[in-house]
Amino acid sequence: MSLFVQKFGGTSVASISHIENVVRKVISARDEGHDVVVVVSAMGDETDRLVALANEVDHQHISGRREMDVLLSTGEQITISLLAMMLLKHGVKAQSYTGRQAGILTDDGHTKARILDIDTAHLKARIEEGVVPVVAGFQGTDDDGNITTLGRGGSDTTAVALAAVLDADECRIYTDVKGVFTTDPRVVEGARCLKEVTFEEMLELASLGSRVLHTRAVELASKYEVPLRVLSSFEDAPGTLITREDESMEQPIISGIAFTRDEAKLTVLGVKDVPGIASAILGPISKANIEVDMIVQNVAADQSTDFTFTVRREDYDQALEILEKVAKNIDAREVAGDNKIAKLSMVGVGMRSHAGVASRMFEVLANESINILMISTSEIKISVVVAEKYLELAARALHSAFDLSEEVS
Ligand code: ADP
Ligand code: ASP
Ligand code: MG
Repeated sequence: MSLFVQKFGGTSVASISHIENVVRKVISARDEGHDVVVVVSAMGDETDRLVALANEVDHQHISGRREMDVLLSTGEQITISLLAMMLLKHGVKAQSYTGRQAGILTDDGHTKARILDIDTAHLKARIEEGVVPVVAGFQGTDDDGNITTLGRGGSDTTAVALAAVLDADECRIYTDVKGVFTTDPRVVEGARCLKEVTFEEMLELASLGSRVLHTRAVELASKYEVPLRVLSSFEDAPGTLITREDESMEQPIISGIAFTRDEAKLTVLGVKDVPGIASAILGPISKANIEVDMIVQNVAADQSTDFTFTVRREDYDQALEILEKVAKNIDAREVAGDNKIAKLSMVGVGMRSHAGVASRMFEVLANESINILMISTSEIKISVVVAEKYLELAARALHSAFDLSEEVS
């Protein structure tokens, strides 16, 4: 018999009537002859509400990351119980499982833990008995029995990890849009739903800001060859299949545009151009556990240079404070910063064999009078940093200039 993992995100379980819709999806998969494991998120904006409560107590959550996980995990626990109750009411043998009860072991990286192992013995036995396990997404337990969570959006990762260890025939991520689009359909009206996208492209899109799939979920699906599909909870349509790249696949130059507002940049001005400067600046930043993304160091014109890098916006204040001290120690002129920036990236495997994508991109932005603050490229993506206020304009202009609304024939 085939096994499907069906994951339903926050909007898809936002109310009792939404959960009734989930019940219908589960029953219809079973009627088609599949065994089903369900993974759910917290209802609606529940996780945001919990984060806001914690922020009132301790903004940086420094004193209480362990407690933060205890708090955040409650959201999913509400959904599993309600869904299991409703399935039972409809005559489906269902049983709810917290992350720990489902055997999900993680490291102890509270609020961004990684799954290490899943003990499937219990779940497998229950599935054999015809039970539908309803598993809380986004959570697990560490070696010492502490509750952990996998980072925002982490229920996707729970679903893919379960699909991998249970050797499921497909992992279906049900969400509030029809599938993976050429860009966020809430921002660009003409965005098009992709029938297929490669793991490699999806990984870039996810890590560069398309929150439709959790980055780690894509990584795991690619590594363990889990057939992964994103589709709508509310419409009957095939959605988007995430697949391995194959010769016969059409290879559009650009598959999609991803963006994130979660960015800030810092510059140390008037830095001496001598060995060890990058490490003197970035060492203390990384010691404070602040992740650095893009880095640009100008070529020195007069023995002194400027050093610029980006961090997540939530880390901006702390990074600025650290840099003020570093600047004094290395005798730099001053520190400048900007936390109203955004990063926009174009992704596509076809870029490998096409030159000129970057120059066309810069031309389109120039025509809209959008100033590019930073640039970074890799084999299959080009990212630019722009002022946040231009982000939507840039996304629309590029989407249209690269004809992303059109089906590639
Ligand atoms: P869920 O709660 O189901 O996990 P998310 O909010 O995490 O849903 O992800 C779905 C959202 O991702 C969509 O509502 C859409 O606004 C956003 N999104 C961003 N980029 C894309 C994209 N390229 N394709 C589809 N959705 C995208
Ligand atoms: N509830 C968590 C969040 O909102 C996990 C998830 O939905 O995937 O981030
Ligand atoms: Mg999500």
